[in-house]
Amino acid sequence: MASPGSGGGRVDLLTIGAFARASRLSPKALRLYDSLGLLTPAHVDEVSGYRFYRPDQLEQARMVAWLRRLGMPLARIQVVLTAGTPEQAAREIASYWAETEAELISRQALAAHLIRYLSGSEPAMPGTRPALTIRYAARSDIGRHRERNQDTAYAGRRLLAVADGMGAGGEAASAAVIEALKPLEAALPAGNLLNAMAEAVRQAGASLADAGPGTGTTLTAMLWSGSQLVLVHVGDTRAYLLRAGELFQITHDHSVVQALLDEGKITPEEAESHPQRSLLLRAIAGDGPADPDVSLHDAQAGDRYLLCSDGLTTVVSPGVIRDTLSAPGDAEQAVAQLIDLANQAGGPDNIACVVADVAEPRPGPV
Ligand code: MG
Repeated sequence: MASPGSGGGRVDLLTIGAFARASRLSPKALRLYDSLGLLTPAHVDEVSGYRFYRPDQLEQARMVAWLRRLGMPLARIQVVLTAGTPEQAAREIASYWAETEAELISRQALAAHLIRYLSGSEPAMPGTRPALTIRYAARSDIGRHRERNQDTAYAGRRLLAVADGMGAGGEAASAAVIEALKPLEAALPAGNLLNAMAEAVRQAGASLADAGPGTGTTLTAMLWSGSQLVLVHVGDTRAYLLRAGELFQITHDHSVVQALLDEGKITPEEAESHPQRSLLLRAIAGDGPADPDVSLHDAQAGDRYLLCSDGLTTVVSPGVIRDTLSAPGDAEQAVAQLIDLANQAGGPDNIACVVADVAEPRPGPV
């Protein structure tokens, strides 16, 4: 039988039907992957438009199918397929999966919250979910190269926050936005906590109206209510969750470098030394709305949260952060160790850290 690959000693090509059966992808899916550039046929018949594939393309086709089963978006599959080495491809999948898990944790909490809210069980049965307590520590350090400390760190019974100020009034800006959140610490607002947090950030932004051009701040903050927390985030300060020995980054940087990474235009290695590392896509400034990410999370006893500025994360790797947070010691010790590590790595920037440990409340008198 004549096929496009049968002459000149070339390998026999598979028709799209045969290739679809062997790869367990539908011909429709194969046409889609072709149009997206994920899997280009070895040959397309000029007259009939039929697609033909080489047998050695089966592995790539199966990889696409597996990544689709993982739920990976097509643009991200492209990043895996074009990775320079299998190790880079593996890292891309690991990073996608860590984000998916963190996202799932947040969605789980939101679903649980909505179910309780709609079934009326939350206000009717206080005490069925014992409020967890947190033990916390916060510190901001000037680092080794800056003349001023524009980072602010705060931890209280209900509110945890870090902010990294920039521009001429950066110190005042990072302090002011956290100040604007503190009323939430004194009295939990009635109603929707997510809206209350978003509104507080809006007011924080308004408080910077006269700060002058170029002045602004990032903000990553958590507000606790019982066993849940509302996370609000703008910029490249970060929140991490250490749960069962694994570290999850639960915020997504609003930075130019993160956007380039998301689009697959640079590798994680290139991101580390990128000249535009500190350029932000979003910040709280006086010149417009901050557009924060706001999400709801369910906390568990044993969870450890870290909020930190880029003065830590640009010089201390996630693996070292995980090991440091996993080591024995209270929140105070963890904060001190992380700041020491950043300074030992050169301390090029201000460093803000907040660590909070979630625990069952101590049993009261019977
Ligand atoms: Mg910084």
